[in-house]
Amino acid sequence: MVCRYGDDLKMMVEQVKQYTSEGKVADYIPALSVADPSKVAVAIYDGNDTCFSEGNFNEKFTLQSISKVLTLALALMDHGEKYVFSKVGMEPTGDPFNSISKLETQIPSKPLNPMINAGALAVSSLIKGSSNEEKLERLLQFVRDLSGNDQISYNKEVAQSEFETADLNRALSYFMKQHGVLTGDVDELLDFYTKQCAIEVNCEDLAKIGFALANQGKHPLQKNDIIPAEIARLVKTFMVTCGMYNASGEFAIRVGIPAKSGVSGGIVGAVPGNIGIGIYGPALDKKGNSVAGMRLLELLSSKYHLSIF
Ligand code: GLU
Repeated sequence: MVCRYGDDLKMMVEQVKQYTSEGKVADYIPALSVADPSKVAVAIYDGNDTCFSEGNFNEKFTLQSISKVLTLALALMDHGEKYVFSKVGMEPTGDPFNSISKLETQIPSKPLNPMINAGALAVSSLIKGSSNEEKLERLLQFVRDLSGNDQISYNKEVAQSEFETADLNRALSYFMKQHGVLTGDVDELLDFYTKQCAIEVNCEDLAKIGFALANQGKHPLQKNDIIPAEIARLVKTFMVTCGMYNASGEFAIRVGIPAKSGVSGGIVGAVPGNIGIGIYGPALDKKGNSVAGMRLLELLSSKYHLSIF
């Protein structure tokens, strides 16, 4: 088979490895602190049978904030735009992902967007299901459909570790409950949210999820559209404006690919009408993005002219 990306990917991974020593693995969720900061992996999916992959691409990691993109899509499919955006806004914040400050200054008090923790918690509270088990099973099935991987589940240890230490997310949730943004039991919401964040994938799963987002919610191996095209468009727009934390502006300029990162070191990229990209590199910069992953995306974007701008 002619390998379009193969040799380049190998070189790029070698090239960015040196930057892993500039970052640190997330340790505010204790179970994430054991990740090996020297790991780097990339997978590209173009809709054919297999991915082009390089580095530690079999390594499993948890979605963390990447899950926010998927719960947003599911909540929009469950309730429609009007209702979802009555609970959460559409504007980037410029603040860190877990910041509480804008919640108090916004009137009415609703989180600015679904990619920060407050917004994601509000969105997670909207997922339909009669119990947390049912909600989680719906979300897992959605991720399995998008990735074409029936084995996908969540990492219990990471979920528990975050649940036990998620006081800031609890505080955000209680604040929003007081202001009517969300209803229901906060610890139940945290139970669902921490499990959603602990869904475990590898780079190839991520690349396939990215491909579906890039291609109007379609997956080449599935008969039906998994995400309506309009929702896939909307979600990708949030990835551009708020997907890379408070580095989203610079990332749009340097890379220009709709992408979402998580504190596990994963990044999903969706090049509209083209490829899906999955990245893993747990050494993070101060804003929470994978140091090597950002470099890798910059190289990929420039080599293959992937910027949408
Ligand atoms: N579960 C993490 C949290 O809420 C996700 C953060 C992230 O990946 O940005 O803190």
